[in-house]
Amino acid sequence: MTITTIGLDGDDTLWHNEKSFREAEQHFVQLLENCADKETIENVLFSTISRNIGLYGYGFKPFTLSMIEAANLICKRTIPSHLIKEILSLGRGMMEQPVKLIDNVVEILETLHKNYRLLLVSKGDLVEQARKLAKSGLADYFDRIEIVSHKDKAVYEELLKRNGLNAKNFVMVGNSLKSDVLPALAAGTFAVYIPYEITWIHEMADEPYNHEGYFKVEKIALLPPLVQAISSQNNGVA
Ligand SMILES: [Mg+2]
Repeated sequence: MTITTIGLDGDDTLWHNEKSFREAEQHFVQLLENCADKETIENVLFSTISRNIGLYGYGFKPFTLSMIEAANLICKRTIPSHLIKEILSLGRGMMEQPVKLIDNVVEILETLHKNYRLLLVSKGDLVEQARKLAKSGLADYFDRIEIVSHKDKAVYEELLKRNGLNAKNFVMVGNSLKSDVLPALAAGTFAVYIPYEITWIHEMADEPYNHEGYFKVEKIALLPPLVQAISSQNNGVA
């Protein structure tokens, strides 16, 4: 038994993403500053997004819809039409911006691609994620693209099945403990956590320190030797 396949998350693992949301949030606060104070605006936006996740999923489009809904609540249901237009253009701006890669991603994928099958395992809206991947220029490094609406144990089990993989041949890598690490471990795979500088509150979870399949590196540049070490260790005990 050895590692044959690596699953890589996209947002904030291969390219920057969360920063766009934080910047848009600040812009949203400025747009609504005549209606309420910063804290109220942030709180209403956060609770609106949280309420809508189950219905809308993740991404720029759900975020834009939630901004409009929150603005309507914050402005006591008298939201002027120019504000709706500005919020829409804020959302469109997020969708149209270029994809900025995390440092060293190209070299690392080039290295890993030589020895392992690579799967992009990305969560969110299909159109948005496909567009980000195309803009990233990374598509050719992946043997398969898996865009899923959410990441839980069953989703990872299905993914393993679909790709004809044994859980112990697979390692999932990502910046979210909640989406990339814990459910992958629950499905019996190995998991590597690479923290990003900002974590969205919905992606926060405790580190599974004592889980034997859990590993952590501070940056993606450290991934190839780690995967090799997991693979040798795995080989030794199997
Ligand atoms: Mg991510």
